[in-house]
Amino acid sequence: MEFVRRELKEVLGEGNVLVNEPMSRHTTFCVGGPADLFLKPGEEDLPWVMELLKRRQIPVTVIGKGSNLLVGDKGVRGAVIEVGGRMAKIRHIGGECITAQAGAPLARVAQEACKKGLSGLEFAAGIPGGIGGAIVMNAGAYGGEMKDIVTHVKVLDGDGNVRELSNRQMEFAYRNSCVPKNGYLVLEASFRLQSMDEARIRREMEELREQRMAKQPLEYPSAGSTFKRPEGHFAGKLIMDAGLSGYSVGGAQVSKKHCGFVINRGDATAGDIRSVIRHVQETVKEKFGVDLNTEVKMLGEFS
Ligand SMILES: Cc1cc2nc3c(=O)[nH]c(=O)nc-3n(C[C@H](O)[C@H](O)[C@H](O)COP(=O)(O)OP(=O)(O)OC[C@H]3O[C@@H](n4cnc5c(N)ncnc54)[C@H](O)[C@@H]3O)c2cc1C
Repeated sequence: MEFVRRELKEVLGEGNVLVNEPMSRHTTFCVGGPADLFLKPGEEDLPWVMELLKRRQIPVTVIGKGSNLLVGDKGVRGAVIEVGGRMAKIRHIGGECITAQAGAPLARVAQEACKKGLSGLEFAAGIPGGIGGAIVMNAGAYGGEMKDIVTHVKVLDGDGNVRELSNRQMEFAYRNSCVPKNGYLVLEASFRLQSMDEARIRREMEELREQRMAKQPLEYPSAGSTFKRPEGHFAGKLIMDAGLSGYSVGGAQVSKKHCGFVINRGDATAGDIRSVIRHVQETVKEKFGVDLNTEVKMLGEFS
Protein backbone atom coordinates (compact mmCIF):
# COMPACT_ATOMS: atom_id res chain seq x y z
CA MET A 1 0.00 0.00 0.00
CA GLU A 2 2.87 2.36 0.90
CA PHE A 3 4.39 1.92 -2.56
CA VAL A 4 1.06 2.59 -4.29
CA ARG A 5 0.50 5.66 -2.15
CA ARG A 6 3.87 7.09 -3.21
CA GLU A 7 3.18 6.37 -6.86
CA LEU A 8 -0.25 8.02 -6.62
CA LYS A 9 1.17 11.11 -4.88
CA GLU A 10 3.76 11.56 -7.60
CA VAL A 11 1.10 11.67 -10.29
CA LEU A 12 -1.91 13.23 -8.52
CA GLY A 13 0.00 15.58 -6.21
CA GLU A 14 0.37 15.48 -2.41
CA GLY A 15 -2.99 17.11 -1.57
CA ASN A 16 -4.99 14.73 -3.75
CA VAL A 17 -3.92 11.53 -1.98
CA LEU A 18 -5.09 11.36 1.62
CA VAL A 19 -4.37 8.53 4.03
CA ASN A 20 -6.82 7.43 6.75
CA GLU A 21 -9.15 10.22 5.74
CA PRO A 22 -12.30 10.40 7.92
CA MET A 23 -15.32 9.81 5.69
CA SER A 24 -17.38 11.93 8.10
CA ARG A 25 -15.80 14.88 6.24
CA HIS A 26 -17.22 13.69 2.95
CA THR A 27 -20.79 12.66 3.79
CA THR A 28 -23.83 14.82 4.52
CA PHE A 29 -24.68 12.48 7.44
CA CYS A 30 -21.31 13.66 8.88
CA VAL A 31 -20.47 10.12 10.04
CA GLY A 32 -18.09 7.45 8.79
CA GLY A 33 -14.65 6.17 9.76
CA PRO A 34 -11.41 6.46 7.80
CA ALA A 35 -10.80 5.50 4.19
CA ASP A 36 -7.41 3.79 3.83
CA LEU A 37 -6.78 5.97 0.78
CA PHE A 38 -8.89 8.91 -0.33
CA LEU A 39 -8.11 10.07 -3.87
CA LYS A 40 -9.13 13.22 -5.70
CA PRO A 41 -8.18 12.62 -9.32
CA GLY A 42 -8.86 14.77 -12.35
CA GLU A 43 -10.67 13.13 -15.28
CA GLU A 44 -7.41 12.69 -17.19
CA ASP A 45 -5.89 10.73 -14.26
CA LEU A 46 -8.74 8.26 -13.91
CA PRO A 47 -7.83 5.54 -16.45
CA TRP A 48 -4.32 5.33 -15.02
CA VAL A 49 -5.49 5.40 -11.37
CA MET A 50 -8.11 2.70 -11.96
CA GLU A 51 -5.62 0.52 -13.80
CA LEU A 52 -3.03 0.87 -11.02
CA LEU A 53 -5.54 0.02 -8.28
CA LYS A 54 -6.82 -2.96 -10.26
CA ARG A 55 -3.29 -4.25 -10.87
CA ARG A 56 -2.50 -3.93 -7.14
CA GLN A 57 -5.85 -5.54 -6.23
CA ILE A 58 -6.90 -2.60 -4.11
CA PRO A 59 -10.69 -2.37 -3.77
CA VAL A 60 -12.19 0.84 -5.16
CA THR A 61 -15.25 2.80 -4.01
CA VAL A 62 -16.42 5.79 -6.05
CA ILE A 63 -18.27 8.63 -4.36
CA GLY A 64 -19.66 11.99 -5.36
CA LYS A 65 -20.84 14.54 -2.76
CA GLY A 66 -21.65 11.80 -0.22
CA SER A 67 -25.24 12.97 0.10
CA ASN A 68 -26.76 9.52 -0.22
CA LEU A 69 -24.23 7.53 1.80
CA LEU A 70 -24.04 5.92 5.21
CA VAL A 71 -20.39 4.97 5.79
CA GLY A 72 -19.60 2.57 8.64
CA ASP A 73 -17.70 3.73 11.74
CA LYS A 74 -14.74 1.49 10.91
CA GLY A 75 -14.37 3.17 7.55
CA VAL A 76 -13.62 1.89 4.07
CA ARG A 77 -10.84 -0.50 3.13
CA GLY A 78 -8.92 0.20 -0.04
CA ALA A 79 -9.30 3.40 -2.05
CA VAL A 80 -12.18 5.86 -2.14
CA ILE A 81 -12.21 7.92 -5.32
CA GLU A 82 -13.96 11.24 -5.01
CA VAL A 83 -15.47 12.52 -8.23
CA GLY A 84 -15.56 16.10 -7.07
CA GLY A 85 -14.09 19.55 -7.50
CA ARG A 86 -11.41 18.50 -9.98
CA MET A 87 -14.11 17.19 -12.31
CA ALA A 88 -16.71 19.90 -11.96
CA LYS A 89 -16.74 21.80 -15.24
CA ILE A 90 -19.82 22.66 -17.19
CA ARG A 91 -18.34 21.77 -20.55
CA HIS A 92 -21.03 23.07 -22.82
CA ILE A 93 -24.14 25.15 -22.43
CA GLY A 94 -25.89 26.31 -25.55
CA GLY A 95 -28.94 25.77 -27.67
CA GLU A 96 -31.13 23.63 -25.44
CA CYS A 97 -28.28 21.37 -24.25
CA ILE A 98 -25.96 21.22 -21.28
CA THR A 99 -22.99 18.91 -20.78
CA ALA A 100 -21.41 18.80 -17.33
CA GLN A 101 -18.69 16.76 -15.69
CA ALA A 102 -19.74 14.26 -13.03
CA GLY A 103 -18.31 16.28 -10.14
CA ALA A 104 -20.35 19.41 -10.92
CA PRO A 105 -22.92 20.10 -8.20
CA LEU A 106 -26.46 19.54 -9.45
CA ALA A 107 -27.56 22.82 -7.86
CA ARG A 108 -24.91 24.81 -9.79
CA VAL A 109 -25.84 23.18 -13.09
CA ALA A 110 -29.51 23.96 -12.39
CA GLN A 111 -28.62 27.62 -11.62
CA GLU A 112 -26.56 27.96 -14.81
CA ALA A 113 -29.41 26.46 -16.83
CA CYS A 114 -31.79 28.96 -15.27
CA LYS A 115 -29.50 31.89 -16.17
CA LYS A 116 -29.57 30.74 -19.80
CA GLY A 117 -33.37 30.44 -19.72
CA LEU A 118 -33.31 26.64 -19.89
CA SER A 119 -36.05 24.73 -18.07
CA GLY A 120 -35.99 21.09 -16.94
CA LEU A 121 -33.59 21.06 -14.00
CA GLU A 122 -35.79 23.01 -11.57
CA PHE A 123 -36.65 19.82 -9.64
CA ALA A 124 -32.93 19.19 -9.06
CA ALA A 125 -31.91 22.59 -7.71
CA GLY A 126 -32.34 21.52 -4.07
CA ILE A 127 -30.72 18.09 -4.34
CA PRO A 128 -27.27 18.32 -2.71
CA GLY A 129 -25.52 15.75 -4.93
CA GLY A 130 -23.24 15.91 -7.93
CA ILE A 131 -24.11 15.11 -11.53
CA GLY A 132 -22.49 11.64 -11.25
CA GLY A 133 -24.37 10.63 -8.10
CA ALA A 134 -27.61 11.97 -9.55
CA ILE A 135 -27.14 9.87 -12.69
CA VAL A 136 -26.32 6.72 -10.68
CA MET A 137 -29.37 7.23 -8.46
CA ASN A 138 -31.66 8.61 -11.16
CA ALA A 139 -32.29 11.35 -8.61
CA GLY A 140 -35.72 12.89 -8.67
CA ALA A 141 -38.12 15.19 -6.86
CA TYR A 142 -41.44 16.95 -7.36
CA GLY A 143 -42.36 14.90 -10.41
CA GLY A 144 -39.01 15.24 -12.23
CA GLU A 145 -36.24 12.67 -12.61
CA MET A 146 -32.84 12.64 -14.28
CA LYS A 147 -34.11 10.12 -16.82
CA ASP A 148 -36.53 12.74 -18.23
CA ILE A 149 -33.72 15.07 -19.34
CA VAL A 150 -30.57 12.96 -19.91
CA THR A 151 -29.59 12.47 -23.55
CA HIS A 152 -26.36 10.57 -22.99
CA VAL A 153 -23.78 9.74 -20.34
CA LYS A 154 -20.02 9.22 -20.65
CA VAL A 155 -18.67 6.45 -18.40
CA LEU A 156 -15.39 4.68 -17.76
CA ASP A 157 -15.84 0.92 -17.76
CA GLY A 158 -13.92 -1.68 -15.76
CA ASP A 159 -11.48 -2.25 -18.63
CA GLY A 160 -10.53 1.43 -18.76
CA ASN A 161 -12.57 2.24 -21.88
CA VAL A 162 -14.57 5.43 -22.13
CA ARG A 163 -18.08 4.66 -23.41
CA GLU A 164 -20.98 6.87 -24.33
CA LEU A 165 -24.38 5.50 -23.34
CA SER A 166 -27.77 6.69 -24.56
CA ASN A 167 -30.65 7.39 -22.21
CA ARG A 168 -32.10 3.95 -23.06
CA GLN A 169 -28.78 2.20 -22.43
CA MET A 170 -28.64 3.79 -18.96
CA GLU A 171 -31.62 1.60 -17.91
CA PHE A 172 -32.94 4.28 -15.59
CA ALA A 173 -35.41 3.04 -13.01
CA TYR A 174 -36.73 4.34 -9.70
CA ARG A 175 -33.54 5.52 -7.88
CA ASN A 176 -31.42 3.22 -10.01
CA SER A 177 -29.52 2.92 -13.29
CA CYS A 178 -27.20 0.45 -14.99
CA VAL A 179 -24.11 2.03 -13.38
CA PRO A 180 -23.87 0.00 -10.13
CA LYS A 181 -24.43 -3.40 -11.76
CA ASN A 182 -21.82 -2.70 -14.46
CA GLY A 183 -19.27 -1.07 -12.17
CA TYR A 184 -19.04 2.04 -14.36
CA LEU A 185 -17.62 5.34 -13.23
CA VAL A 186 -19.69 8.27 -14.51
CA LEU A 187 -17.51 10.96 -16.14
CA GLU A 188 -19.98 13.34 -17.75
CA ALA A 189 -23.64 13.73 -18.64
CA SER A 190 -25.56 15.67 -21.27
CA PHE A 191 -29.08 17.00 -20.91
CA ARG A 192 -31.75 18.33 -23.22
CA LEU A 193 -33.74 21.21 -21.71
CA GLN A 194 -36.37 23.62 -22.96
CA SER A 195 -36.15 27.35 -23.53
CA MET A 196 -38.30 29.29 -21.09
CA ASP A 197 -38.47 32.69 -19.45
CA GLU A 198 -35.71 32.92 -16.82
CA ALA A 199 -37.98 34.59 -14.23
CA ARG A 200 -40.49 31.75 -14.52
CA ILE A 201 -37.78 29.12 -14.00
CA ARG A 202 -36.41 31.03 -10.99
CA ARG A 203 -39.88 31.32 -9.47
CA GLU A 204 -40.42 27.58 -9.80
CA MET A 205 -37.04 26.86 -8.17
CA GLU A 206 -37.81 29.24 -5.33
CA GLU A 207 -41.20 27.61 -4.71
CA LEU A 208 -39.64 24.14 -4.56
CA ARG A 209 -36.93 25.46 -2.22
CA GLU A 210 -39.59 26.82 0.13
CA GLN A 211 -41.43 23.49 0.08
CA ARG A 212 -38.21 21.69 1.04
CA MET A 213 -37.48 24.14 3.86
CA ALA A 214 -41.01 23.73 5.22
CA LYS A 215 -41.16 19.93 5.07
CA GLN A 216 -37.60 18.61 5.43
CA PRO A 217 -35.32 18.69 8.50
CA LEU A 218 -32.58 20.54 6.63
CA GLU A 219 -31.18 21.92 9.89
CA TYR A 220 -29.74 18.46 10.72
CA PRO A 221 -27.23 16.28 8.86
CA SER A 222 -28.95 13.50 6.91
CA ALA A 223 -28.86 11.76 3.56
CA GLY A 224 -32.32 12.93 2.51
CA SER A 225 -35.05 10.29 2.30
CA THR A 226 -33.65 7.24 4.05
CA PHE A 227 -36.03 4.77 2.42
CA LYS A 228 -37.31 4.19 -1.08
CA ARG A 229 -41.01 4.72 -1.64
CA PRO A 230 -42.67 1.33 -1.28
CA GLU A 231 -45.23 0.52 -4.00
CA GLY A 232 -48.59 2.03 -3.05
CA HIS A 233 -47.35 3.74 0.14
CA PHE A 234 -45.29 6.64 1.45
CA ALA A 235 -42.39 5.62 3.69
CA GLY A 236 -42.77 8.67 5.95
CA LYS A 237 -46.48 8.03 6.58
CA LEU A 238 -45.94 4.32 7.36
CA ILE A 239 -43.19 5.25 9.83
CA MET A 240 -45.36 7.88 11.49
CA ASP A 241 -48.35 5.53 11.67
CA ALA A 242 -46.06 2.93 13.26
CA GLY A 243 -45.51 5.43 16.10
CA LEU A 244 -41.84 5.90 15.30
CA SER A 245 -41.70 9.69 14.97
CA GLY A 246 -38.77 10.81 17.14
CA TYR A 247 -37.56 7.23 17.74
CA SER A 248 -33.86 7.44 18.52
CA VAL A 249 -30.73 5.46 19.23
CA GLY A 250 -27.80 7.50 20.52
CA GLY A 251 -27.60 10.62 18.36
CA ALA A 252 -29.66 9.20 15.48
CA GLN A 253 -33.36 9.93 15.27
CA VAL A 254 -36.40 9.51 13.05
CA SER A 255 -37.08 13.17 12.26
CA LYS A 256 -40.23 14.53 13.92
CA LYS A 257 -40.56 17.00 11.04
CA HIS A 258 -40.46 14.33 8.32
CA CYS A 259 -40.49 10.68 9.37
CA GLY A 260 -38.94 9.60 6.07
CA PHE A 261 -35.65 11.19 7.19
CA VAL A 262 -33.28 9.67 9.74
CA ILE A 263 -31.20 12.54 11.08
CA ASN A 264 -27.95 12.96 12.96
CA ARG A 265 -28.73 15.15 15.97
CA GLY A 266 -25.05 15.96 16.35
CA ASP A 267 -23.22 13.06 17.90
CA ALA A 268 -24.63 10.04 16.06
CA THR A 269 -22.42 7.19 14.95
CA ALA A 270 -23.06 5.27 11.76
CA GLY A 271 -23.97 2.37 14.06
CA ASP A 272 -26.70 4.48 15.74
CA ILE A 273 -28.11 5.45 12.34
CA ARG A 274 -28.09 1.86 11.14
CA SER A 275 -29.83 0.71 14.34
CA VAL A 276 -32.61 3.25 13.81
CA ILE A 277 -32.97 2.14 10.18
CA ARG A 278 -33.20 -1.52 11.17
CA HIS A 279 -35.73 -0.88 13.93
CA VAL A 280 -37.89 1.13 11.54
CA GLN A 281 -37.73 -1.63 8.91
CA GLU A 282 -38.65 -4.34 11.43
CA THR A 283 -41.48 -2.36 13.01
CA VAL A 284 -43.06 -1.31 9.70
CA LYS A 285 -42.84 -4.90 8.43
CA GLU A 286 -44.42 -6.22 11.64
CA LYS A 287 -47.25 -3.64 11.72
CA PHE A 288 -48.08 -3.25 8.03
CA GLY A 289 -46.34 -6.13 6.24
CA VAL A 290 -44.45 -3.64 4.07
CA ASP A 291 -40.73 -3.95 3.26
CA LEU A 292 -38.88 -0.64 3.49
CA ASN A 293 -35.72 -0.74 1.42
CA THR A 294 -33.06 1.88 1.95
CA GLU A 295 -32.48 4.55 -0.67
CA VAL A 296 -29.31 5.45 1.24
CA LYS A 297 -26.30 3.37 0.19
CA MET A 298 -24.32 1.70 2.96
CA LEU A 299 -20.57 1.58 2.51
CA GLY A 300 -17.60 0.24 4.43
CA GLU A 301 -17.29 -1.54 7.75
CA PHE A 302 -19.69 -1.10 10.64
CA SER A 303 -18.74 -2.02 14.22
C1 LIG B 1 -31.09 17.17 2.41
C2 LIG B 1 -31.10 16.16 1.29
C3 LIG B 1 -32.13 16.17 0.36
C4 LIG B 1 -32.14 15.23 -0.68
N1 LIG B 1 -33.16 15.27 -1.58
C5 LIG B 1 -33.18 14.39 -2.59
C6 LIG B 1 -34.23 14.42 -3.56
O1 LIG B 1 -35.13 15.26 -3.53
N2 LIG B 1 -34.22 13.48 -4.54
C7 LIG B 1 -33.24 12.54 -4.64
O2 LIG B 1 -33.27 11.71 -5.57
N3 LIG B 1 -32.24 12.49 -3.75
C8 LIG B 1 -32.18 13.38 -2.73
N4 LIG B 1 -31.16 13.33 -1.82
C9 LIG B 1 -30.16 12.25 -1.90
C10 LIG B 1 -28.90 12.59 -2.72
O3 LIG B 1 -28.65 13.98 -2.72
C11 LIG B 1 -29.02 12.09 -4.17
O4 LIG B 1 -29.18 10.69 -4.23
C12 LIG B 1 -27.80 12.49 -5.02
O5 LIG B 1 -28.10 12.23 -6.36
C13 LIG B 1 -26.53 11.73 -4.62
O6 LIG B 1 -25.44 12.34 -5.29
P1 LIG B 1 -23.96 12.36 -4.65
O7 LIG B 1 -23.07 13.05 -5.60
O8 LIG B 1 -24.01 12.91 -3.28
O9 LIG B 1 -23.65 10.81 -4.63
P2 LIG B 1 -23.04 9.94 -3.44
O10 LIG B 1 -23.96 9.99 -2.27
O11 LIG B 1 -21.63 10.30 -3.21
O12 LIG B 1 -23.11 8.49 -4.09
C14 LIG B 1 -24.36 7.88 -4.36
C15 LIG B 1 -24.10 6.58 -5.14
O13 LIG B 1 -23.57 6.90 -6.42
C16 LIG B 1 -22.27 6.34 -6.61
N5 LIG B 1 -21.51 7.37 -7.35
C17 LIG B 1 -21.41 8.69 -7.06
N6 LIG B 1 -20.72 9.33 -8.05
C18 LIG B 1 -20.39 8.39 -8.96
C19 LIG B 1 -19.70 8.42 -10.20
N7 LIG B 1 -19.20 9.55 -10.73
N8 LIG B 1 -19.54 7.25 -10.89
C20 LIG B 1 -20.02 6.09 -10.39
N9 LIG B 1 -20.69 6.00 -9.22
C21 LIG B 1 -20.87 7.13 -8.51
C22 LIG B 1 -21.74 6.04 -5.21
O14 LIG B 1 -20.87 4.94 -5.23
C23 LIG B 1 -23.05 5.68 -4.49
O15 LIG B 1 -23.42 4.35 -4.77
C24 LIG B 1 -31.11 14.26 -0.77
C25 LIG B 1 -30.07 14.26 0.16
C26 LIG B 1 -30.05 15.20 1.18
C27 LIG B 1 -28.92 15.20 2.17
